[in-house]
Amino acid sequence: MNGNASIAARAQAVLTPNYRQAPVALVRGQGSRVWDADGKEYLDLICGIAVNALGHCHPAAVRALEEQGRALWHVSNLFYTPRAVELAEELVHGSFARRVFFCNSGAEANEAMLKLARKVHADAGHPERNEIVACVNSFHGRTLFALTVTGQEKYHHGFEPLVPSVRHVPFGDLAALEQALGPHTAAFVVEPIQAEAGVLPSPDGYLAEARRLVHAAGALFCLDEVQTGMGRTGKLWAHEWEGVTPDIMSSAKALANGFPMGAMLATEEVGMHLTPGSHASTFGGTALASAVALATLREIRAVLPAAGKVAERLRAGLSAIPGGRVVGVRGRGMLLGVMVRGVKAGDVVVAARERGLLVNAIGDDVIRLAPALVLTEAEADQGVALLASAISAAPAIA
Ligand SMILES: *Cc1c(COP(=O)(O)O)cnc(C)c1O
Repeated sequence: MNGNASIAARAQAVLTPNYRQAPVALVRGQGSRVWDADGKEYLDLICGIAVNALGHCHPAAVRALEEQGRALWHVSNLFYTPRAVELAEELVHGSFARRVFFCNSGAEANEAMLKLARKVHADAGHPERNEIVACVNSFHGRTLFALTVTGQEKYHHGFEPLVPSVRHVPFGDLAALEQALGPHTAAFVVEPIQAEAGVLPSPDGYLAEARRLVHAAGALFCLDEVQTGMGRTGKLWAHEWEGVTPDIMSSAKALANGFPMGAMLATEEVGMHLTPGSHASTFGGTALASAVALATLREIRAVLPAAGKVAERLRAGLSAIPGGRVVGVRGRGMLLGVMVRGVKAGDVVVAARERGLLVNAIGDDVIRLAPALVLTEAEADQGVALLASAISAAPAIA
C-alpha cells in the first residue's frame, strides 16, 4: 500500500463505487498544501469541499484535538460536557440563535432543521402545516428527508418513494415562492449561495423578501449554511451580508475544520420545541468534536479580516485570467465559481491536478474554489497562475 496507483487499485476492489475519485491518494497536509502517496505536492484550493477552513492540521485545531483526546472523548448525551456548552455559547453569541443542537454532518443538521420545522406546527395544533418548500437545484444532503428537499432529481433516482409533502420553486423567484406558500407550509429552506449548483448567489434582496413572505404565510424561514457558514463568504454566516436572520439554520462542513460535526441553530421560541426525547444523536456534540470546533470557531473569527483581503485578490486574479476562456467569477469571499467556456471544467480540473493544483468541477462550465481562510497572498497568486495554465492547456470543445 504505497503509491497512488496501488492504493487506487485496491480502493476500487473494496469500496462502493459511489464516488468519482481521482487516481490520487493524499497522505499529508499542512496549511493549504497536501502531498500524495507518490510524494507530489499540491496547492489545495478546495480544502475538503469547504471543510478545512483553517487549512490542514492547523496548530490550534491539532492542539485542541490532542488535549481533549487525552482528557475525554465521548460520554453520551446522558451528561453535559464543558466544551459542548462553551461551543454552544460561542455560536449563539452575536448571532440570531439562542438554542443549539449538535450532530455529525450537514445532512443530519438539515434533518434536525426539517423535523423541528414540522414539530413546531404540530405542537401548535397544526399537524397539517407540514409542507417544506425548497429550491430547484438546491443541495441539502443525502439522508432521505434532506435528499427529498434537495432540488436535483438526478439524486432522487432509485430512492423513491421520497418523503411526502415537499415541493420546489425556482431559486430567486419570489412570485413562485409566494404562490407555493399557504396554510399547509411548515417552512421554506434555502441556501444563501447555491454552492453545489455552481456557486449561484441568491439575487440581491431575495432572502429578505423571501423571509417576509414566509413569515406572512405563518411558516418558518430556514437557512442551510452548511457550506456558506463558518467564515466561508467573509462573514461568519452568509446571511449577515443580507441583514436577514433565519428561524433555524444548519451548519456543518467547516464547523470543526474536518472533524465530523454538524449543528442546528434556532431562535429561543423555535428551538424549545425540540423537547426531551424528541430528537437525538449518539455522537452529537461529543467532547472531542466540541473541543476541535471551539478552537476552530475562535481561530476563524481571528483570521476573517485577513481572509477577506486575500479573497479579493484571488477573485481579481481569477477574473483577469487571459485567453477568453474565463467568462466570469461568481460567489463571495472564499467560495468562488470560475465560469469557463470553450473547455470542459472536468478537463481543467485534471490539467490543474497535473500542475499541482486541486480544484473541483461543477457541471461542464464551473470550477469551484473553496480555499482555506488562511490562504496567503502568494498562494492566491500561485493558484491563479496554475489555474490559468490549466485552462489554456485543456482541450478546446466545439
Ligand atoms: C455539503 C452540504 C450538505 C450535506 O452535508 P454532509 O455533511 O455531506 O451531509 C448540505 N447542505 C449543503 C449546502 C452542503 O454544501
